[in-house]
Order: sequence, then C-alpha cells, then structure tokens
Amino acid sequence: MTDSPFPASGGSDNSETPNESFPGDVRLYAPEAENWRAHILTSWDKVYCFAKHPGQDYYHQLMYGEIYVQKGDEVYCLNCALRDGILTRNRLYWQKGSGLQ
Ligand SMILES: [Zn+2]
Repeated sequence: MTDSPFPASGGSDNSETPNESFPGDVRLYAPEAENWRAHILTSWDKVYCFAKHPGQDYYHQLMYGEIYVQKGDEVYCLNCALRDGILTRNRLYWQKGSGLQ
C-alpha cells in the first residue's frame, strides 16, 4: 500500500498532453477526410482489404467488428490505411506540405 492519491490501476492519465503525437495515442486522422468514410464491419460477409500486407501475396479478410475505411469500392483495414498514408497518427498532419487544406 502506498500513500498515492491515485489508484494503482486504471491507467488513465489526464495530465496535459503535448500537442502532437504521443505514446498511447490511438486516435487516427484522415488527411483526405472528404474522400473516406470510416465503418465497422457488421456482417459476416467476406470483405477483403484492398491492399496486401508487405510480404503477403493475398488480400486479407476483414473481421466482424473490425473498423475499416472506404472510398468507393476501395476498402482498407486500418493497418494498410496507415501504411499507405490514408490515415495518420499525426494530428498535425495539416501543418506539413501545402497541398492539404
Ligand atoms: Zn489491409
């Protein structure tokens, strides 16, 4: 037992966070927000990611309950969306480059 006023479990830390990506931040951002929609797969139908994982020569299937992004017929799992730059963890993505508005 300690005298800490904070519970040992829970792990929530509401201290001020830096205005940039930080460890534990799981939020994702879509620089091309107008073009993409986020979904949660709510059927057991076979839905395949539009991209392949590096080193794999097949399209992997999305799981029931999996969050994915879609643009038209293109469906990406979050791993591939992050890898291809569709999504980013950098909340300051809009500060770099000049093409983004
Ligand atoms: Zn994928």
